[in-house]
Amino acid sequence: MRRIWAILAYLAVVAGFSGGVWWFSLSSDLEALAERGEADLSVASDRLVGQLQRFRELAVLLSDHPDLEALLNGQGNARTASALLRETADKTGSLEILAVAPGGQVLATSEESWTPLASSPYLKRAIEDGALGAYHSVEPNSGLRVSTFASPIFSQSGPVAGAVVVRADIGAIEAEWRGDAMTVAFTDSNGVILSSNRSELLFRTRTLPLPATAGGRYGGAPLSPFPEVREIVISGFELWRLDAGRYVPRASIHLTRPLPVIGMQGEALVDIAPAVTLAGWQALVTATLGLVIGAFILSLMDRRQRLSAQLNAEAAANARLEQRVRERTAALSAANKALRREVDERIAAEQALKRAQGELIQAGKLSALGQMSAGISHELNQPLMAISSFAENGAAFLERGRPERAAENLGRISEMARRMGRIIRNLRAFARQEVQPVRPVDLAAVVEAVLLLSEGRIKREGVTLDWHPPASPVIVRGGEVRLQQVVMNLVSNALDAMEDRENKRLGVSIELADKVRLCVSDTGCGIASSDRIFDPFYSTKEVGRSEGMGLGLSISYGIVQSLGGAIRGANRPEGGAVFTVELEPAEMEAVA
Ligand code: ADP
Repeated sequence: MRRIWAILAYLAVVAGFSGGVWWFSLSSDLEALAERGEADLSVASDRLVGQLQRFRELAVLLSDHPDLEALLNGQGNARTASALLRETADKTGSLEILAVAPGGQVLATSEESWTPLASSPYLKRAIEDGALGAYHSVEPNSGLRVSTFASPIFSQSGPVAGAVVVRADIGAIEAEWRGDAMTVAFTDSNGVILSSNRSELLFRTRTLPLPATAGGRYGGAPLSPFPEVREIVISGFELWRLDAGRYVPRASIHLTRPLPVIGMQGEALVDIAPAVTLAGWQALVTATLGLVIGAFILSLMDRRQRLSAQLNAEAAANARLEQRVRERTAALSAANKALRREVDERIAAEQALKRAQGELIQAGKLSALGQMSAGISHELNQPLMAISSFAENGAAFLERGRPERAAENLGRISEMARRMGRIIRNLRAFARQEVQPVRPVDLAAVVEAVLLLSEGRIKREGVTLDWHPPASPVIVRGGEVRLQQVVMNLVSNALDAMEDRENKRLGVSIELADKVRLCVSDTGCGIASSDRIFDPFYSTKEVGRSEGMGLGLSISYGIVQSLGGAIRGANRPEGGAVFTVELEPAEMEAVA
């Protein structure tokens, strides 16, 4: 709605402005036209005045002619005078020249038949006032428009003796300027057009009815008013609109110019059609320009509106998007918080687990110690028995005076004692809770120590040991006690698995690649459920038989994992199981 009002207001402004342009253009053009019209009217008036004045002056000149003077003074000859007048009329193109007595009688004339003069006002003026008389009229018979000039002839004694009357045909004069572009007309003192370069305008007048004094001046000529003339005044110009045929402008500026010398008034009708057309065109161009600019502005406004609508839509979409992002971010941060809480809980659980695991390791070790204690006591008992018998033997040999045998026995005793010392040392080390951090350890030495501890059982159970210690130490990242615990567990499990077997073969090997790989293989019963062996408390062993708690492998798994290594167990195709421990190699120099 606002838009419609704005468009209407703009159209009104354009219309007003175009009207202004029309008005300004028309006024200035009218001024120029009027100026030119005035000049043209002045030229036309001068031409008419000049031509009529010739006849006026002819009358004056003839009034002094001696022939006429003589005639009017009663001495001259009418024939001679008439001849003079005829000749003069022929030469000057006058319609008629008359010599008139004060009473109005024609004494001489240029024509055979002459127009009776009656008591015409011009004659009266010449004879009674002794002044020059001028008169414009229409001949009743011929319908000719005639200008008459009467000049007094004075008698030798002084008073007026008569007059010379020269009559000129206005039509003949007018014929010369009939084709002029501008419409020009000349009115007499009654406002009747007696001369014009447009025949349509002749005998037209704006002052009907004529005063009575006009009498028969127009000889029955068809006087008529102007057809449908309408007058308006625009910026000081009198504009006429009339319908008087195709050669008279329909719309024109009416100009007047008084011509007192010949007793007439000049009038001109300057066609304003070109000015109106020009002003119309200028107004049209202005309006078109205004409309084009308006349309342009409208389209710009439309575009702006569309653009702002688009921007609004985009802003709304952005706001929606931002809202969604906010919601999503809130949801994510909530999820993040929950996750963090969970992580914290996990870390706490892991720490608890680690603690439990540490305790379990110790518990497992103690259980292993329990398991081993029978074997170890046997292990220690045997050298003790041997020592006692070697000691007894030594004493006997000393008594028998064979000190070299006694020394041999003593040497055996000390060897046995060393062996026992080694076993006990290893046991101590095994039972100790390791607190030291991860450090480089010789894996081969660890294996040696475990095999030493298990030597008694291996021999007792008739197990063939397949172990080739490497030529040089194999250093890995670990803890001596922890690795011993792992290897001991693997060896014990292998021996357990082979207990009921005929063929008992324990294989221990160390391979060195990008990692250090320790393999413990047996020819036992094989793993019953390979995906559960590392679970805590999973055991297939009868309770009480070897006091299996199902903790050994799970503890080993935890230890190897904490050292950055891996442990896995598998059945061998030829029977039995193989356990592989992979450990990170370490630098030799780092060994303390
Ligand atoms: P435990 O020895 O107290 O049973 P472990 O965790 O050491 O507990 O062993 C778990 C189980 O894994 C054993 O009960 C056994 O069934 C299986 N297992 C371990 N080592 C071997 C092996 N070398 N051969 C066959 N089975 C094995």
